[in-house]
Amino acid sequence: MRERAEQLIKNSEYKLTTQRRKILKILVENKNRHLSPMEIYEIANFNNYGLSIATIYRTLHLFSKLNLVKKLETGEGKILYEFKIYGASHSHFICLGCGKILETKKIKLEDCKKYIPENADLIITDCSIRLFGYCCDCQKIKE
Ligand SMILES: [Zn+2]
Ligand SMILES: [Zn+2]
Repeated sequence: MRERAEQLIKNSEYKLTTQRRKILKILVENKNRHLSPMEIYEIANFNNYGLSIATIYRTLHLFSKLNLVKKLETGEGKILYEFKIYGASHSHFICLGCGKILETKKIKLEDCKKYIPENADLIITDCSIRLFGYCCDCQKIKE
C-alpha cells in the first residue's frame, strides 16, 4: 500500500523526499484513524523523525492535492486527515461531545442530486456530508 502511494508521488511532478516518505509511513500505519496535523507531529516526534509542524502542514496539503489523503473538517476549525487510496469511501459522524468520529456508509452523490433544483445548471464533482450529534457515551453523560 505504501509502495503504491510512493509510486503515485514519483509519477507526479513532485519528488519523493525523505520527509514525505516519513509522513506517508505515519499515515499508512494509522490508516484506520483520522489524524490532526498535531497528532501526526506527535507520532513523528515519538519516532524521532525530526519533522517540523510546518513541514507536516505543507506535506498534507500536497498529499491532499495528489489524492493520497482525504480531509475531514470537524467544525470548530479542526481538520483531520486520513490515508485514502484504498478502501471504500465513507461518510462521517462527528460527536459534538467528545469529538469521536465514526465512519458511516458513503452518502451518495446520486442521492443528493434530488435536492438540487432541476433547472440549476450545475456540474457536481464531489459530495461531502458530515453528520453531527452525540455518540452513545456522551448521551449517557447528558442524561
Ligand atoms: Zn461522544
Ligand atoms: Zn474516515
